[in-house]
Amino acid sequence: MKKVVKFGGSSLASAEQFRKVGEIIHADKDRRYVVPSAPGKRYSSDTKVTDMLYDCYNSVSANSDISQKLQAIRERYQEIVDGLGLEVQLDEEFQTIREEFENQAGSDYAASRGEYLNGIVMAAYLDYEFIDAASVICFDEDGVFDAEKTNKVMKKRLETVERAVIPGFYGAMPDGSIKTFSRGGSDITGSIVARAIGADLYENWTDVSGFLVTDPRIVENPETIETITYRELRELSYMGATVLHADSIFPLRREGIPINIKNTNRPQDPGTLIVERTCRRPRFTITGIAGKKGFCAINIEKDMMNSEIGFGRRVLQVFEENGISFEHVPSGIDTFTVIVHQSEFMEKEQNVISGLHRAVNPDLIDLEADLALIAVVGRGMRATRGTAARIFAALTHANINVKMIDQGSSELNIIIGVRNEDFENAVRAIYDIFVLTHL
Ligand code: ASP
Repeated sequence: MKKVVKFGGSSLASAEQFRKVGEIIHADKDRRYVVPSAPGKRYSSDTKVTDMLYDCYNSVSANSDISQKLQAIRERYQEIVDGLGLEVQLDEEFQTIREEFENQAGSDYAASRGEYLNGIVMAAYLDYEFIDAASVICFDEDGVFDAEKTNKVMKKRLETVERAVIPGFYGAMPDGSIKTFSRGGSDITGSIVARAIGADLYENWTDVSGFLVTDPRIVENPETIETITYRELRELSYMGATVLHADSIFPLRREGIPINIKNTNRPQDPGTLIVERTCRRPRFTITGIAGKKGFCAINIEKDMMNSEIGFGRRVLQVFEENGISFEHVPSGIDTFTVIVHQSEFMEKEQNVISGLHRAVNPDLIDLEADLALIAVVGRGMRATRGTAARIFAALTHANINVKMIDQGSSELNIIIGVRNEDFENAVRAIYDIFVLTHL
């Protein structure tokens, strides 16, 4: 068996955390390829090394002396190196980093050093080979990640390597300059490595025991999701549930490699298993509930809309021309609603309204702001009757008015629109009826 293990910043923030990681890796000989993030926060008011690096690099551009800032970063690593009793020497590395910063090597280069240095420390600690991600993660000349080239290069490089540490978050462009993924991108590196070696499992170690059924800021101590499919995960992350970088799913989805989200501080917990497909029945009818506030509905009414060919296209074209992406389009016989992010819509509001008048000459345009959308997601809903009925019963009970309903044909999710101020209560009511009362 071959496993790729990725550790997030909070799992590597101190020597103590490194030790836990070491124990986890040594507990299973299949954990052969390790992808570390940069050291994260040791306590809630602490600063992530990545943020320290961005800040330090910005000071170079502002022409101020960076010695102190660089020293503070160096201390973060030294504390780990000393705490683990390692012999690693970082003088030369920091000298190079200073020079590159002064030569304006770019903020991507700057940020990437967090993972790079942590990779060196981790490789020394585990006695694994260190492989610089710049030599195996390829971006094209426009800075776009080149998945196929990377897969070839990575596969070849790892063919003869039993055990290695490959830092997360960055790679290189054809001219050798460093390019990073977006924030949280070490997750992507982990899945790229897993794909390249044809891993049996990609373990993503973080500081939570997997995905929760819903947001713990809304529901106290929500249950953990044991198994979730890639598609369910996509629906939930679209609505704001975050644990894993959304782009890390693509490399694995087509290979059918499962991802296990695990907790470095509670390795005994099973965590959440993310799979392509499964016969495992979810514990509850629903897998998860997620949602977001801040949507706006543009309701367009016109008599005999149904017979007007191209009506929908012309409406959506107005949004396209204004650079606004639409989220949902529930429609009736003579009504057509477009739901968008309020923040994107606000400044272009009047352009959109006049554009709609020109495009479809509606009888009425009505705007409704401050809406929240809630996605109730679950593969189990397909085989269960009455899911929607239960959701609406719960909302009625909680005195919440439903503004919109959208059930995709996949029966994998039901989207419900409520007023912003009803959002939290609505999520609680849905959680209660499916999870607490075990219906
Ligand atoms: N260190 C990077 C960040 O803070 C990447 C990562 O941790 O995945 O975004």
